[in-house]
This record gives sequence, C-alpha cells and structure tokens, in this order.
Amino acid sequence: MERVIGIDLGTTNSCVAVIDVDGVPQVIPNRGGYKTTPSIVAITEGGRRLVGHIAKRQSITNAENTVYTVKRLIGRKWDSDPVRSVCGTVSFTVEEGPHEDVRIKLRDAYYSVQEISAMILQEMKLVAEEFFPGEVLNRAVITVPAYFNDAQRQATKDAGQIAGLDVIRIINEPTAAALAYGYGKSMNKVIAVFDLGGGTFDVSILEISEGGVFKVIATAGDTFLGGEDFDHRIMDWLIDGFKVEHGVDLRADRMALQRLRDAAEKVKCELSSVSEADVNLPFIISHGPDNTSLHLQKPVDRETVEKLCIDLIERCRELCRSTLKDAHLTASQIDEVVLVGGMTRMPAVQKACAEVFVREPSKGVHPDEVVAIGAAIQGKALLDEQEDLILLDVTPHALGLLTAGNHFDELIGQNTTVPTSATKTFTTSRDNQTAVKILVMQRESDENQLLGEFLLTGLRSATKGQIEIEVTFSIDSDGIVSVFAKDCETGLEQSIQVTSSSGLTAEEVSQMMASAEEYMIERKGSDELEGVRQNAEKLSADIEKLFPQVEALVASSDFGREALGKAREVLANTKEAIEKSDLALIKEHSEALSRTLKMFKGVVSRPT
Ligand code: AMP
Repeated sequence: MERVIGIDLGTTNSCVAVIDVDGVPQVIPNRGGYKTTPSIVAITEGGRRLVGHIAKRQSITNAENTVYTVKRLIGRKWDSDPVRSVCGTVSFTVEEGPHEDVRIKLRDAYYSVQEISAMILQEMKLVAEEFFPGEVLNRAVITVPAYFNDAQRQATKDAGQIAGLDVIRIINEPTAAALAYGYGKSMNKVIAVFDLGGGTFDVSILEISEGGVFKVIATAGDTFLGGEDFDHRIMDWLIDGFKVEHGVDLRADRMALQRLRDAAEKVKCELSSVSEADVNLPFIISHGPDNTSLHLQKPVDRETVEKLCIDLIERCRELCRSTLKDAHLTASQIDEVVLVGGMTRMPAVQKACAEVFVREPSKGVHPDEVVAIGAAIQGKALLDEQEDLILLDVTPHALGLLTAGNHFDELIGQNTTVPTSATKTFTTSRDNQTAVKILVMQRESDENQLLGEFLLTGLRSATKGQIEIEVTFSIDSDGIVSVFAKDCETGLEQSIQVTSSSGLTAEEVSQMMASAEEYMIERKGSDELEGVRQNAEKLSADIEKLFPQVEALVASSDFGREALGKAREVLANTKEAIEKSDLALIKEHSEALSRTLKMFKGVVSRPT
C-alpha cells in the first residue's frame, strides 16, 4: 500500500501522520514515544547532526550551534523587520546570504533556512519510516500557516525537495485542522479555526457541507504572532527584574538567555493549569571581581503573564473580527470553533476566542496533532483521487502589479478561491522596445511586498503600442504564484526572467539535495551500527554475568576449559570490533555471542 505522510512543520514542534488501511488517521510517535518532535537542529563539537528532543536537551550547553524558530525566517529577505527581530533574540548566528536571504552559521558551515527546515523534514520522514520498517515514504503533504506568502510557500516546498520528499501539496494549517475535524462525518456547518502555535497565528472560516466539501470562506493571520512572543514577554520581564535587583544584564550571556527562554516557556505552560508558579534558575550568571554566582528565583502568577501579553491576545481577537467581516458573517452564524496549536491551552487565549465568537470552543480535536492528521487526509485523498473530499482554499493575500506612481493594481483579490488566474495585457510604450518590466506584488497587512520582478525580454521590433503582450498570473493549489506571457499577435510565448527573489537557485537546491541524501545514507548506516553495537554489548554483558557461575561448573573438564577459552576469545573479538566500529565484524561476532550465551544458559540451568 502506498502511503502519503502528512507533516506539520511547526515553529516549535513538528508532527507526522498517516491514514492507515482502514482509513483511520494515525499520528506517528518518534523513537522516544513522543507524538511531536521539537523543530530544533544542532551540530555537536564532533560534527554530528542532532534533530528534535536530542537537540533540545543539549541546547543550553551548545547554544551557539543549536537552531530553533527557523520557520520565522523561511522565505524572508535579510533586510526585513522579522529577520532583524529574530537576530536580536536568538543564540545562534544569522548572516546575510547570496540572494539577500538568510544564512545560519553552525560550527564552521553556513546553511540556508531551507536546508535547516529540510533537516527537520528528513527527521519526520525517518520517524515515519522507522514506524513502517522496510517502507520508503517519499510522498508528503506539508502544512504552512494560511498567511504564508508566495516566497514562504516556495521556500517550504524547496525544503521538502531538499529533504528528498515529493511534496504533492502544500496546505494551510487551519484548513488541515478543519479537514481533520470534519473527516468522516456528515455535516453542514460553518466553522472557525483559531490556530495559535509557537510562531504564527491564523484564523480561517470554513463551510463544511455534506459530501465532504470543505470551502474556505475567509482567512487572515500574522506570521509573527505566536507562543515565542509570549515567551519573550516573560523573558524580558525576568531580565528587567534581575537587572533592577542585581544591576546585571542577562542579555549579554548566551547560555543564560537559553536557560531563560526554556524557563519562560515552562512557566507559561504551567500557568495554563495553575495560577502561580516559580521560575528557579540557580547559578544563572557569575558576576563581579570575585565571580560571585547569582541566582534567579521569582514567583510568577497567571495574572502577571496575562498582563504582559495582553496586546498579543488583542491582536488575535482583532484578526478574528476582521475575518468575520471578510466572510460577511456575524459571530452568531458560526456553528463551531476549533482550537489548534499549543498556545490555545492558555486560558486567556481561550477566553478571548470564546468572547469574539460568542461561544465556547469545541474540545473535540487534539490541538498538537490535528494539523498533521489533516495533511495526511489530504494526502490520501490526492493519492486515491478521492472524489468525496473536495477542498477549496483561498489565497490569503491580494496579488497585483505596481504601476506608475507606486499604485497597486489588484489582479486577484484576497480570499479568492485557488487555483485561480488573471490576465493583463501590456503594450510597449517606446519604438523598438525590447523588454517590459513587471513588478508583481502581494498585499500583506496593507503593505505591498515585492514578489518578483519579471522582465519580458526579446520583444520583436515594432513601433510603440504595436506589441501587445498578454500576461497571465496564476496561483496554484499550493498557493504558489507563476507568471506566463504571450505575444497577442503571434501567439508566441514570451520569455520571463525572474529577479529579486530570495529563493534558492535550481542548482543550489540540487546541491543541497545531494548533501541531504549523503547524510541520510550515513545516518541510516550509523543507526544500523548503533543497533548492532547495542545488541552485541547486551549479549556480552549477559555472558560476562554468567561467566563465574559457568566457570565454577565446567572448569574442571578439558571440554569446559576449552569452551570458556572460546567464550573469552569471542568477547575480546567483539570488543575490538566495537572499538573499530566495524559493522560486518560486530554482526559476525554477535552470532557467536548468541551461541555462547545459549550454551551458558544451558549450563547454569542444568540440574546438578
Ligand atoms: P505548536 O506550534 O502548536 O506546537 O505550539 C507550540 C506553542 O504552544 C509553544 O509556544 C508552546 O510553549 C505553547 N504551549 C504548549 N503547551 C502549552 C500550555 N499548556 N500552555 C500554554 N502554551 C503552551
């Protein structure tokens, strides 16, 4: 059976799901048994790559070489406010890349954001493949925040390609959640999905109708509003309080910052179930001429955190109101509200959501798992060409052109159902004009973002106004924009050159794919070595444990002494093979170890 994996590539955590043979969605746990994996990557001193919980565990001691929150950087230009804001708070080094993009330094190497995201995706693919031994799971549906723009979507798709995945669809997180909510049920409902995760906020209003039609009516969001912003508020408050108390600024110490970040998140989560908690960070910094150790100990209550984050919650509320307006609906026309994302566990967030939609949110879905499940549902439907599931999503941003006087000429409106396209005819304004430049813009939160500069080149010679070129702008089901041009008279396709994009070139993607593949081969090899080594060590330990007992029973006979000698030899050979990390030899000796252990067990269990 061919499977498609659904991956929720989150800012803080990622999750992978499949739909099993019986059509039941299944979230796949990682090796540690957790259903979500931290979206964290680190490189150790020895050059080893760590992803997930193992990377998180060492993040304090290896803060400079541990990357998190990459989703906040994906598809962003170096010279942008979000990148400046991330640079100011993270413990790793961020620099400008060759395409005005962002590169991350880990040890001595620089990585694109797409590569780091690909490492997380590869890990999720491995989680799924370990769960279904022997299967290669290449096909995936990856989710993105509904409010992601073209560059962010394209960069996510590139990350999937680098990870060796065939990304059959990119879908919006709230839409995926709605799919999971309505899957297999027959209903006619208008629902609102309120999705507040680690990095982003989305709100979508959808109509679910019998026959499995999921139609998004309106969506809005903020790709820079999430749990991390709540954590920063708590961190800043702790840092400011510490400065007042001790006159020391903890911002200067990377390790202290990392500990504070973890503590802020922890206390925030605790305060979702209790009203008071403590932040306790002993030996947070050493200070003064005699390096006195200072400790941070502070009680925090829920009310304080709510006050610190009041404006963040208000922004969520405001976006819900504007989405209702865009959908031409009132709160009373919403039948159900679905909460998605870890941050919706915070009581003040739930309260704000309940107030704005004038109803208690539904508790029927798991906020951490529902998005991956929705992605898996969509994957299965695409694979089976299932007709009883129709998903109609919208574009979150208006698409237009920048005309003279910096005027935004809208071609495709916000909340238009995708896929969609619009055509515009351009005429030359000079004699023998050989090229026309088109600036394509996306309108985000009332600001125009340059999507790409398209240069129509190689126009035939003609007097001005004689050449008419029809340019078609399309948005596909992944929400990705493409541009196609045609000479109206000759019908010839016009070549288009894209400049001013912060994406990777096709060659860079291929190079990164090759090194990701190399890593996979190495990783699979080292995983096998690790498994075989552990087994050999266990067998050796069991033999050594029985040795004195067996020796006492058989050492008096020649045959017994010979058997004991052979056992010693096998143990020594195995040890040597393990030291050399020689997989073939360890495997060979493991067989001898198994035989020896069986024989030893036989000896000790023999009645005397
Ligand atoms: P997600 O992207 O959906 O995995 O959400 C991750 C965000 O949810 C992080 O910022 C977490 O700190 C936050 N979160 C998880 N559990 C809780 C909780 N019990 N209370 C408040 N926030 C939480």
